[in-house]
Amino acid sequence: TKWVYTFGDGKAEGEAGMRNLLGGKGANLAEMSNLGLPVPPGFTITTEVCTYFYDHGRSYPDDLSAQVEAALAHVGRLTGRTFGDPANPLLVSVRSGARASMPGMMDTVLNLGLNDTTVEALATAAGDERFAWDSYRRFITMYSNVVLDVGHHHFEEALEDYKERKGLHLDTELKAADWKHLVGRYKEIVEKELGRPFPQDPKEQLWGAIGAVFGSWMNNRAIKYRELHAIPASWGTAVNVQAMVFGNMGETSATGVAFTRNPSTGEKELYGEFLINAQGEDVVAGIRTPQDITERARKASGSDKPSMEKAMPEAYAELVRIYDLLERHYRDMQDLEFTVEKGKLWMLQTRGGKRTARAALKIAVDLANEGLISKEEAVTRVEPAALDQLLHPTIDPKAERKVLAVGLPASPGAASGEIVFSSDEAEEARKNGRKVILVRVETSPEDIHGMHAAEGILTTRGGMTSHAAVVARGMGKPCVSGAGTIRVDYAAGTLSVAGQVLRAGDVLTIDGTTGQVLLGRVKMLEPELSGEFATLMSWADGVRRMKVRANAETPLDARTARTFGAEGIGLCRTEHMFFEGDRIVAVREMILADDEKGRRAALAKLLPMQRKDFVELFTIMRGLPVTIRLLDPPLHEFLPHTDEEIAEVAAGLGASAEKLKARAAELHEFNPMLGFRGCRLAIAYPEIAEMQARAIFEAAVEVTNGTGEAVRPEIMVPLVMTRAELDQVKGRIDAMAAAVATETGSPLAYQVGTMIELPRAALRAGEIAESAEFFSFGTNDLTQTTLGISRDDAGSFLGAYTGKGILPADPFVTLDQEGVGELVKLAAERGKATRAGIKLGICGEHGGDPASIRFCESAGLDYVSCSPYRVPIARLAAAQAAL
Ligand code: PEP
Ligand code: MG
Repeated sequence: TKWVYTFGDGKAEGEAGMRNLLGGKGANLAEMSNLGLPVPPGFTITTEVCTYFYDHGRSYPDDLSAQVEAALAHVGRLTGRTFGDPANPLLVSVRSGARASMPGMMDTVLNLGLNDTTVEALATAAGDERFAWDSYRRFITMYSNVVLDVGHHHFEEALEDYKERKGLHLDTELKAADWKHLVGRYKEIVEKELGRPFPQDPKEQLWGAIGAVFGSWMNNRAIKYRELHAIPASWGTAVNVQAMVFGNMGETSATGVAFTRNPSTGEKELYGEFLINAQGEDVVAGIRTPQDITERARKASGSDKPSMEKAMPEAYAELVRIYDLLERHYRDMQDLEFTVEKGKLWMLQTRGGKRTARAALKIAVDLANEGLISKEEAVTRVEPAALDQLLHPTIDPKAERKVLAVGLPASPGAASGEIVFSSDEAEEARKNGRKVILVRVETSPEDIHGMHAAEGILTTRGGMTSHAAVVARGMGKPCVSGAGTIRVDYAAGTLSVAGQVLRAGDVLTIDGTTGQVLLGRVKMLEPELSGEFATLMSWADGVRRMKVRANAETPLDARTARTFGAEGIGLCRTEHMFFEGDRIVAVREMILADDEKGRRAALAKLLPMQRKDFVELFTIMRGLPVTIRLLDPPLHEFLPHTDEEIAEVAAGLGASAEKLKARAAELHEFNPMLGFRGCRLAIAYPEIAEMQARAIFEAAVEVTNGTGEAVRPEIMVPLVMTRAELDQVKGRIDAMAAAVATETGSPLAYQVGTMIELPRAALRAGEIAESAEFFSFGTNDLTQTTLGISRDDAGSFLGAYTGKGILPADPFVTLDQEGVGELVKLAAERGKATRAGIKLGICGEHGGDPASIRFCESAGLDYVSCSPYRVPIARLAAAQAAL
């Protein structure tokens, strides 16, 4: 087996495509060599050696050592030096390099090959004794630290001691003799700590470093990192051994890092910093202030230190030539590391650069406009979820965060405000011009007005599809839900967390993108929608197959959805419309009435309000489909609680408060999510569905006649488990359509369909499709009922499940494709088998999740529907899924 791949001098055995075998760094070093760029020669030991190492009790393949010897000799020939040679030694760096960039692993050992003899040769070759001894002491420190596990602090202390004794302050004041003395001290320290001397044999040093790189693949930090980023342990890391070039050989040497475009704005400019007379770690250590690379940046920063452009014009010109070449070659923004040794530029690394969402957008669009990538490719270059950063205020990354608690990132964006504990207080504060965060154990539909009034919502209980989460996302308001370590005491008007007690009026910040709850006000960055956003979105729209609709019921939500490019409403939750203003009283009358007559009286009050709602909605969404779902309330949520509320309803119904209390107690449910809700309501009280159907049809006729543009409502029946249920409700709807057509003289086209949100409905989809003209997958309930996990209070244990890897992700956020997804696919197939043209959509929260959207594409759905602020994310994700 070939375990070792060499590179350098315009040639390489590997190339960029061999990332899995050579790791990212190794593959790109090979690629740069092949491009004829100045790369210090070296070789890569493959990731397969790492795998072998762990499969064979931390030992190496037999033929590895001969291959390493041969590669060392090859590098020696290219550099004219020999590894371990006392007179003309080859010195190397050793670095790790996995497939994906992985902080937490062993990083770098520089100057390897130095010992008591070769240090003299280095001094002679460089003509600089101080430089040689400084390099040697750096090597001992680094090697001891990462390979021998002798802590850095030992050496730091020895250095500080020495400087104090000599009355020196800066490292730069130390001369060759000082470093020479310290090297002696350092070796003593190592011997004392380890019981054996610092290795003098360069071969032993090399194998020590190689072993340390492979060993670091399994250190705790690396394991943790892999866990967080879903990187399999089987990938392994490669080891890169490369001839040293020195950025610390005096004033004509330097080291630096650069991005080929600005990583925070995406601006096309060489962006980075460098340090004269320094080695790589000096830049990272931040001891000296780095200098700007371009003159332009230097002027902008007002620095009095010369730019690289000024100080090293030739190396700078070479860097400019190379960065342009690399960007064209890789067709993406690159992150570069380089060293200048005595005026000559050497490239040490290139890789795709990390960037903000804003930069990602600009770079993708610019690269396409520059002709480097196609528009389709540009569409794939932006992470859909990253668009959240652009649509909501975010916390300034430079701001200090005093984290009090971490809950679920339920609705993105950040907000600060005074704490209030009730929705009425929130509304009151808002009227007085104060900004508040509504803090509740959980929210219910009665909190809608408070949620509207608040800047953000924090709950201590509830998951990603809890009421607070769903409604906040719909409103585009930041929300952290299920922050379980916070205790709310409504009576005392306090919350306690992390040993602190906060009162109403104290200021909190919530970050709905990370789930953090922070003390005090934190600096925010306002969202900015650039021209590139619209451009990329239009390219995405050009390639996607699935339509994107929004879940919206209020005029505001509907308008937002249209602005963000929604192509219709996929879910109008009519129960949300009933919590506005004084409708709740009429709704309670309707629910608590003990006979049909009482209900009809209450419904008569609701009809004009519903009709008006639909007129508004149809008008805003003119020309686009609107799916209206019949009432689907856990009845429970509508029940009055306080004596005052009961008295109000009693008056309306002409009944006694006692009687009402008894009726409310009768309707109280222990498990309302599986209770008297969905179409069960329409089955028990058909007059409710009739009222809603009438309101829909009358509104549709009104808007059609008024605008001349036909409204085609889609009426959706929730929580169906049998075809018989659907048929009963559909019968009422059809009859109402006929009645309204006769009354108004305007017949109307409409569709009746169903939600598929119970496993039985999915299984019986073939039969249900005989009656349903469309299916909309309600994956919130379908997840809850398939997994048997309550969507409202799963937060308490779901964390443990995802943490232990039992579930790959929160199933209420990312569709459980293997389980719930199987039911979706099966229902789609069975539905299509019965009714070829059946329209298929999804309106659970998963409709706005990129991974789930990809699944929807593969399941052949016609559209996804999500909260308005997620519409752009869904448009981009649907486009990527189609490519
Ligand atoms: C669903 O269950 O997925 C759905 C969209 O309906 P709701 O969230 O209103 O129950
Ligand atoms: Mg549902």
